[in-house]
Amino acid sequence: MSIKTIFLDRDGVINKDNNYVFKINDFEFIEGIFNVCSYFLDLGYEIIIITNQSGISRGYFDENQYKILTEWMITQFKKNQIKILDIFHCPHGPKSNCICRKPKAGMLIDAQNKYSIDMKKSWMIGDKETDIIAANSAGIKKTILLNSNYKNHKHSNASFIIYSILDSKTLIQC
Ligand SMILES: [Zn+2]
Repeated sequence: MSIKTIFLDRDGVINKDNNYVFKINDFEFIEGIFNVCSYFLDLGYEIIIITNQSGISRGYFDENQYKILTEWMITQFKKNQIKILDIFHCPHGPKSNCICRKPKAGMLIDAQNKYSIDMKKSWMIGDKETDIIAANSAGIKKTILLNSNYKNHKHSNASFIIYSILDSKTLIQC
């Protein structure tokens, strides 16, 4: 049996994109994120986080620091009765030839293979065009660009553009 999934980018969707966040003190959840995640779970979706973390490759923080922050983040979700099925991260930089760094689809394909995900029933929510491109490459057609900056993304490939994460509830209804 296959599952349907909401794929979430991390920085800019779950937490404010405060540039290469790796300290708990710098991690600010975006208002409404717990609310929408509970809503997605109620609709029968799994939630998977797909995140580029080039700060590791750049030497700003290491895998262990990333792991500590990630475990803390998962705990905060759990305190809000939200289960995150899995988190995939790419530690590589823009000059790497890896297949995981978005806009490449590697992490999404890995997730699909690991959990037998029905990509046609799944959604991607990201704040960058690279999230949308990666999703489309992985066979996800239902994409939402969370745009906190009106100047960006005039020519997005996203199915929908929203200005608050809470607006995703009006788009995802089954
Ligand atoms: Zn990578």
